[in-house]
Amino acid sequence: MINIAIDGPSGAGKSTISRLIAEKLGFIYADTGALYRAAALAWTRSGGGELSDKNFSALAMPPITLAFVDGVQHVLLGGEDISGEIRSPEISQLASRLSVLPSVREFLLGAQRKIAEENNVIMDGRDIGSVVLPAAEIKIFLTASPGDRARRRFDELCARGVKTDYETVLREINERDGRDSGRAVAPLRPASGAEIIDTTGNSLEKSVSVLEKFIRERLAAL
Ligand code: C5P
Repeated sequence: MINIAIDGPSGAGKSTISRLIAEKLGFIYADTGALYRAAALAWTRSGGGELSDKNFSALAMPPITLAFVDGVQHVLLGGEDISGEIRSPEISQLASRLSVLPSVREFLLGAQRKIAEENNVIMDGRDIGSVVLPAAEIKIFLTASPGDRARRRFDELCARGVKTDYETVLREINERDGRDSGRAVAPLRPASGAEIIDTTGNSLEKSVSVLEKFIRERLAAL
């Protein structure tokens, strides 16, 4: 199977770009952030409490898996499709705080590796090229300036009817960047061998064409 790892900070365009390119290549697209979001939702439903490895491990956590129906990803929590419920700003923040815990990362590792073993996949996240799939055939670190990323995330939230403002989104992006890059376990940084691609100032079409060209060239050389 061919595995393509795309890592980078929130709002760099990983999911939109990966989904479009996966479609063109006939690969599946796996968004691993959804797994951390599912863990956050399960945590909220369990009543929350102080975030710690001990408390997380004590939870009777239902299995969290990704299912693919006609190439579209669904996130399942104990069999329940929660794909629509995990996209709120509250879940974004809690997922980022939970993802610092080694027990959470360990809990979600198997599901990610299984998808990559069974499928030609573009998998996006923060530590795919460095920890989850260090042997991925192609690794990309996709980034953009915080201002550009906040603008894209703001537009996306508005389109979904979420009430927020640009300054709040920018602050939350900066908070999540700090936590994702500063954590001790699997911090966000380019994996060894990753191509760093900066999409600042690009239209979506431009970013897709840059990544698609890079990926096709690498695939042809495999
Ligand atoms: O990508 P998304 O914004 O949906 O991810 C939610 C949170 O999950 C991120 O802020 C990050 O802290 C965490 N995450 C992670 N490792 C991954 C994917 C997501 O730590 N591979």
